[in-house]
Amino acid sequence: MIELDGLTKHYGDTVAVDDLTFTVRPGIVTGFLGPNGAGKSTTMRMMLDLDNPTSGTVRIDGRHYRQLQDPLTYIGALLEAKAVHGGRSAANHLLCLAQSNGIPRSRVAEVLDTVGLSSVAKKRVKGFSLGMNQRLGIAAALLGDPQVLLFDEPVNGLDPEGIHWIRNLMKNLAAQGRTVFVSSHLMSEMALTADHLVVIGQGRLMADTSMKDFIHQN
Ligand code: ADP
Ligand code: ADP
Repeated sequence: MIELDGLTKHYGDTVAVDDLTFTVRPGIVTGFLGPNGAGKSTTMRMMLDLDNPTSGTVRIDGRHYRQLQDPLTYIGALLEAKAVHGGRSAANHLLCLAQSNGIPRSRVAEVLDTVGLSSVAKKRVKGFSLGMNQRLGIAAALLGDPQVLLFDEPVNGLDPEGIHWIRNLMKNLAAQGRTVFVSSHLMSEMALTADHLVVIGQGRLMADTSMKDFIHQN
């Protein structure tokens, strides 16, 4: 579960996130919909303690991020393409991440299998396509077997097969009882993945409703 209470972020005169209060529940996929610049990434970065709120709080399963021991075992995220040190192999990259985050090394082979990268585990990340990089990012998010998962615009730039695969993965993670929070600027994408919808515009909460009710009302 993720609980936001009055979450606010100012960058100088820009109010990127404006007093957001909502809860992301386990066992379903919650979509986070809003146009570009609405504040979705900033909100997710604050959920991961990568950015400090101006005011308000985020709790992950009842605790502040900084109170979590080995945070990657509580929350994993696929953020917008973050460069992986390209000279390393996929397995090596994940092994380093596991070692510095209190995660057993046996998880590396498991997550590589989950994302379909076992056959290229020893290949350098430098030669990976966008789709393979995306899968590696997901492997990293899943490495600590966290109950809470964030996906920031995960289908951007992927081919239809990759898009289909990610949608199914998110649904399966939710069906396992996990909390899945996924952002998109496209309602058409949300309609295919999300059970519940949180809508923001200019940093403010516009709707927090089941997908069914949202479609009825709009
Ligand atoms: P979204 O993810 O919905 O596209 P963002 O969270 O990236 O939106 O951006 C929300 C607003 O905050 C935008 O106006 C953006 O320009 C601004 N913003 C985001 N990050 C920064 C930053 N590091 N410095 C200044 N302004 C920022
Ligand atoms: P570093 O440069 O040390 O890798 P980052 O800026 O990547 O640091 O991350 C800062 C913090 O955010 C770390 O404590 C890490 O636990 C958390 N973090 C980064 N990426 C993720 C992710 N994909 N999932 C969950 N937490 C993350």
